[in-house]
Amino acid sequence: MSSKEILSITAEILSTNRVLILGHIMPDGDDISSVASLYLGLKKLDKEVRCSIDYDIPSYYKEFPGVSAIENYESTCDYDPELIVVVDSSSPDRVGRFADKLKLFKTIVIDHHATNTMYGNLNWVDESSASCAQMIYILNNSMGVEYDRELALANYLGIATDTGFFKYSNTDYRVFQVASQLVKLGAEPHFVSTTILENKTLEQLQLLSTMINNIKVECDGQLVYSHLTYDDYVLHRCSEDASSGFVSELRSVKTAEAAVLFSEFPQGEIHVSMRSKRWLDVSAIAFTLGGGGHPRAAGCSFSGYNIEYVIDEVIPLLKSSLRDELKG
Ligand code: 5GP
Ligand code: MN
Repeated sequence: MSSKEILSITAEILSTNRVLILGHIMPDGDDISSVASLYLGLKKLDKEVRCSIDYDIPSYYKEFPGVSAIENYESTCDYDPELIVVVDSSSPDRVGRFADKLKLFKTIVIDHHATNTMYGNLNWVDESSASCAQMIYILNNSMGVEYDRELALANYLGIATDTGFFKYSNTDYRVFQVASQLVKLGAEPHFVSTTILENKTLEQLQLLSTMINNIKVECDGQLVYSHLTYDDYVLHRCSEDASSGFVSELRSVKTAEAAVLFSEFPQGEIHVSMRSKRWLDVSAIAFTLGGGGHPRAAGCSFSGYNIEYVIDEVIPLLKSSLRDELKG
């Protein structure tokens, strides 16, 4: 464990009063949980803390403690903190329009992506941690934060979602240790799993059916990919968060080593979600395309291209990586 970084970050935050916590664009459960749990922790320490994400937060996360405190870019862009803490974000562009603000204020980065570019004044990056929320648990404890039921629930959210509810390859004994502590402190696993996994609309299931109809395979079934156009989202009255988790369905195909979902939302913005099952490092491919992530889950985005063009650019890279790995 990087105890030196934790001690310096603890000392830095404890000696500061005005803190702004930032999460990333297209926020996922781990990001939202990390922002909310650090916010609730710093509130308990009587800090003048605010938190913000330059992106809409999917509505089902609003049932979690601390999430209603997350502000948008417009309400926080003029706020002058003494310190910014960025969570779960591997590069400055991930904070959206806040990127310029990072140059103006002392910045701490807490993250678990190996592709992190170390853009803070203090960086605690632990790629062996399954979630950033798990790092926030360690930090809150190091700062002497007392956990109550609300904070335990907010913190458990990211640990559950970034491990795919304790089934991804990043799930190790430390995940269960922290999760078990949080459940003891009052987090309810069943509330989290039903709120996140069993909260779909019928339109979302129809969008899933479109994605399944669009499936293509390459490399004898080792590469499974699909796409959803902006028109597909509009037809099913869905927005982009409706397809969160869909790429896992592609990876669930027996022969698949790699799975990719190309999704266009809003119009002209293409997000590429990549997953691998056992050995392909998709974060290396995402990184060469200007994105980042983890070896088994990574992504990148393209603006101003049509979806066919992006598919034709990305699929050959995956095919050649799969072939190189097999040859090597
Ligand atoms: P997803 O496919 O669910 O959007 O993202 C999978 C992983 O890749 C997450 O850890 C996410 O933070 C990361 N990721 C997704 N898109 C991007 C991107 O455009 N840039 C970077 N740096 N990371 C990304
Ligand atoms: Mn994460």
